Amino acid sequence: MAESFNWNCPYCNHAATITSSNFSTFTNYFDDGNKDGSLAIWSSVTVCPNNECKEYAIKARLYKVKNVPSGRQFIGNSLITWQLKPQSKAKPFPSYIPKQILDDYQEACLINDLSPKASATLSRRALQGIIRHYWGIKKSRLQDAINELKGKVDQSTWEAIDAVRSIGNIGAHMEKDINLIIDVEPNEAELLIGLIEILLKDWYIAKHEREQHLKSIVAVATAKKPAKESKPADAP
Ligand SMILES: [Zn+2]
Repeated sequence: MAESFNWNCPYCNHAATITSSNFSTFTNYFDDGNKDGSLAIWSSVTVCPNNECKEYAIKARLYKVKNVPSGRQFIGNSLITWQLKPQSKAKPFPSYIPKQILDDYQEACLINDLSPKASATLSRRALQGIIRHYWGIKKSRLQDAINELKGKVDQSTWEAIDAVRSIGNIGAHMEKDINLIIDVEPNEAELLIGLIEILLKDWYIAKHEREQHLKSIVAVATAKKPAKESKPADAP
């Protein structure tokens, strides 16, 4: 593979440029009289270049294959895609976020392709958990909890929440009980996951980083204070 591509490590979240030195592929062409004819399994391994990580991600795809003068060629999009390692698209999040919320989020990601409606149910529960824990809003219906959020959160975050709740079945069932399983499209389940990722980042992580930053400012100011005050006394 000659060209390079941008990649976000699913383990350490570092953005990296992947070249042939940390990316390899394998293609297994087969037919053997199977019912679908000429097929290929294409698999890839990507190694994270971050020295503190060095994790590796593996995925595989199944393609239909046709013969062309130059050899063999994949036809169209992959028939099946397998995310082998890590098994889920869940992004790594820090452990100061409540475990129950992270568990729901991770399971929603894990099951997203297999069962979008189970994934969406877990995501709705995670969303309600976030609003309850972070904002202290204890409304039992997600719809009411979201309504109470308006005016409390910044405009762009509100627009993202409002956009997701207004689509298709997610919106139609927001007023229902949180544990009710509803039918959703795979892309709707994915949108809910995306929304949860934004909220975890914009609320929990941003708040934590701000607190750390303020603490470091206080620490630096405190360390400098005695030195400043003692100077005149030490002066000759
Ligand atoms: Zn990594």
